[in-house]
Amino acid sequence: MALIRNSKLRPRILVVGGGYLGLVTAQNLLKNLGRGEATVTVIDPNPYMTYQPFLPEVAAGSIEPRHAVVPLRRNLPGAEVITGKVTSINHADKFVVVEPENDEPFELDYDHIVMAAGSVARTLPIPGLKENAIGLKRIEEAVALRDHLLSRLADAALMEDDDERRKALTFVFVGGGFAGIELLAELEDVVRSAIAQYETLTEADVRFVLVEALGRVMPEVGEAQARWVVEHLRERGIDVYLETFLQDCTDKRVKLSNGEEFDADTIVWSAGVKANPVLIDSDLPIDERGRVTVRADLRVEGEDGVVEGAWAAGDNAAVPDLSGGGVGGYCVPNAQHAVRQAPVLAANVLAALRGETEFKQYFHKTIGSVAGLGLYKGVSQMGDFEARGLLAWLMHRAYHGYAIPSIDRKVKVFGNWILNFVLGRDTTELVDLDVPRKSFVEAAESKPVPKKEEPVKA
Ligand SMILES: Cc1cc2nc3c(=O)[nH]c(=O)nc-3n(C[C@H](O)[C@H](O)[C@H](O)COP(=O)(O)OP(=O)(O)OC[C@H]3O[C@@H](n4cnc5c(N)ncnc54)[C@H](O)[C@@H]3O)c2cc1C
Repeated sequence: MALIRNSKLRPRILVVGGGYLGLVTAQNLLKNLGRGEATVTVIDPNPYMTYQPFLPEVAAGSIEPRHAVVPLRRNLPGAEVITGKVTSINHADKFVVVEPENDEPFELDYDHIVMAAGSVARTLPIPGLKENAIGLKRIEEAVALRDHLLSRLADAALMEDDDERRKALTFVFVGGGFAGIELLAELEDVVRSAIAQYETLTEADVRFVLVEALGRVMPEVGEAQARWVVEHLRERGIDVYLETFLQDCTDKRVKLSNGEEFDADTIVWSAGVKANPVLIDSDLPIDERGRVTVRADLRVEGEDGVVEGAWAAGDNAAVPDLSGGGVGGYCVPNAQHAVRQAPVLAANVLAALRGETEFKQYFHKTIGSVAGLGLYKGVSQMGDFEARGLLAWLMHRAYHGYAIPSIDRKVKVFGNWILNFVLGRDTTELVDLDVPRKSFVEAAESKPVPKKEEPVKA
């Protein structure tokens, strides 16, 4: 190991993950800590927090990628922000191993650890899935998806082989939860509007397919709303297969459990999440789903009781849902919980730091759900109040425009929406983002201009 950074002048509160929970917890800590009382250190592989509810709109081009991320250093003045990945946690000796992207790993010690490393895609061992599918948890995936889909249109427009063209224009989405449906609907919307710009393509050339293992979509809304969503998607020409599994997608040949088989160049996997696997490389107690186990006061608790100095919430934790509404008695992994758990967590860490023994309990009754389904279309459920179409879409935008942290991001997001409303949505893909030096290398390798023969002087 390169070095043990034992540079603590004061107690260190180490926040692993600068996502929704990590950012808001750190902000609350910084706001309430006394001068010199503790160092707040936030470690994340990204220098920004990603506002994941906006990923479908980033993929659709309604929001600029940089506007859907919140820079950590700018929004955490006074904190120590480390851009790197925590690869293991040794709580018995209170240190973590950090791996920066381009540097040697090092160990970092702490007094309190806040596990806020979120979740990752929950995949299955389906042949071809790892090689051919893409998920949607990161801003880079949203950007790549957008460019990929739009470039498939441009490629297909020049294809003469029908099979090749069909494959290029077949887009398969696996998982009919909230995130999967939003992404599918947003991308279908943008592809349909982009296709109008091609003379050689028609809407009938494009095929969108949703594959969902359960008999319904969107468990976050009631049965009636879920049925409406399926009807709505089918009216838009999307093939919705319920009670159907993806069985194989080797070489992008999609095989479904209903016997159907076809080629698809785009396979998007949104079939749920699992707790960050970094917890498996830790000595913190985890449950059978890999989530760190916590009490309602967000202190980590194992079989032997409370683990002093360890805290967790958000997607990587099994937080008891005291409202009685959670799945299996635990809060579902969503931003609504993460953002509300953060201030409770920060207050309790401060209390522990100050030697107090009374801790707040986390309690939140879900207020409902709002989802965008493409421009001017949405669905929502707030208790018994159900909305569909334009109203739900406006509610979705109002809620998330308000919920993204930092005034500067709110202004930019609303600015994006207003500009797009006035000027129209941008349906241009950027190409070669993964090979930015391509044209420079081509230029360097291009043939020299042939020398002209010197005219013979008389
Ligand atoms: C497409 C999509 C749409 C969604 N829409 C909604 C919605 O409409 N409403 C809603 O309530 N919820 C929604 N969610 C869920 C919501 O975004 C998450 O529940 C929420 O972000 C959880 O917060 P968190 O802080 O626990 O995790 P995250 O916000 O995921 O933060 C985890 C952080 O940990 C970092 N990290 C990961 N590994 C490491 C490591 N080894 N070391 C250090 N840091 C690490 C990550 O980079 C990340 O910044 C959506 C999610 C997705 C993917």
